[in-house]
Amino acid sequence: MIYFDNAATTRLDEVVLEAMMPYLTAHYGNASSVHALGRETRTAMEKARKQIATLMGAKPGEIFFTSCGTESTNTVLFGAVRDLGCRHIITSPIEHHATLHTAEFLAAQGACALHTVSLTQDGHIDYVDLERLLQECEGEKIVSLMHANNELGNLSDVHLIGELCRKYKAYFHTDAVQTLGHYPLDINTFQPDFLSASAHKFHGPKGSGILYIRSGIVLKPLIHGGSQERMMRSGTENIANAVGFAKALEMALLHLQEEAVFIQSLKSYMIDGLRRIFPDIEFHGDVSEKSLYTVLNVSFPKTERTEMLSMNLDIAGICVSGGSACSSGANVGSHVIRATYPHRNAVPVRFSFSKHNTFEEIDIVLQKLTEFVV
Ligand code: PLP
Repeated sequence: MIYFDNAATTRLDEVVLEAMMPYLTAHYGNASSVHALGRETRTAMEKARKQIATLMGAKPGEIFFTSCGTESTNTVLFGAVRDLGCRHIITSPIEHHATLHTAEFLAAQGACALHTVSLTQDGHIDYVDLERLLQECEGEKIVSLMHANNELGNLSDVHLIGELCRKYKAYFHTDAVQTLGHYPLDINTFQPDFLSASAHKFHGPKGSGILYIRSGIVLKPLIHGGSQERMMRSGTENIANAVGFAKALEMALLHLQEEAVFIQSLKSYMIDGLRRIFPDIEFHGDVSEKSLYTVLNVSFPKTERTEMLSMNLDIAGICVSGGSACSSGANVGSHVIRATYPHRNAVPVRFSFSKHNTFEEIDIVLQKLTEFVV
């Protein structure tokens, strides 16, 4: 099996599993219990929080554990409208559905107005249009823009977005699900008010998210019923997942430099190979340095053969991602590709890489593409 779908999820690292195991077995106390077993797991939980905060340049009190990036983003957008009085959500048409569907839901309820920023030709945020929207939206507002797009790989300039938000007194949330663990993210350099991230994108466990909330901002919880996470998120704490998040982040940042160089070289090798086989090949998104080194979205011209491409690759034991599937399993196409390339008649195939991939795997995939496309 060749796994080129690492932007969907990554393989759990052995060392992360080892760090988590004691909290799935011997240390099973409820972190909210006051007895010895509870105190033991509480200590592990707070150690994980402190470690994550330190690695991000944040304070431990600014980190909240959640079940996933989606929950973190829902908490922010619901809270911004309900508790911070935001009457405008400014986002982009190519955000993950965690952002877009939540913002659309809130707007449909009449709770706020939804504004989407224009994109450049290759799917970057048009920062001039962002500034225009910030000028036009009066009163409290929140900007929710992702750090990197999971389909195109495009990286946003979060420093500039942060600056603009401060200038126009808007709250700033960034979905950093594709970047935390892949880039050295120091919260102090771009000063978001909120940040969502998820461990399973950098070899941590699934169902393990964090939400960063800048100190001084108070949101009400999305999930009620207990007082866990300092009243921010009810439900018995998932200690193993918190410990797994911290360990995965520690490992990712420890080896970031060499892994980033290696994964970028895989991506460049794939681009060169594709250009050799298909001289006119195009890509979705920006493939320059303003792009995730983990993601390459190829734009195959639509033909009878390319329409079957993802399926044929799957049959050949190659896991990639095409258009996102809806819950019924039908291919509904990608809202990201539609918004960025409304006139392009193409079949998108996203190849996303990790430290576990090899140049040999790319050679095999290029060979298969020659068979399936040419
Ligand atoms: N945001 C982005 C950019 C993503 O790629 C994903 C996952 O695919 C999410 C949010 C959702 O994260 P989670 O799976 O932790 O809910």
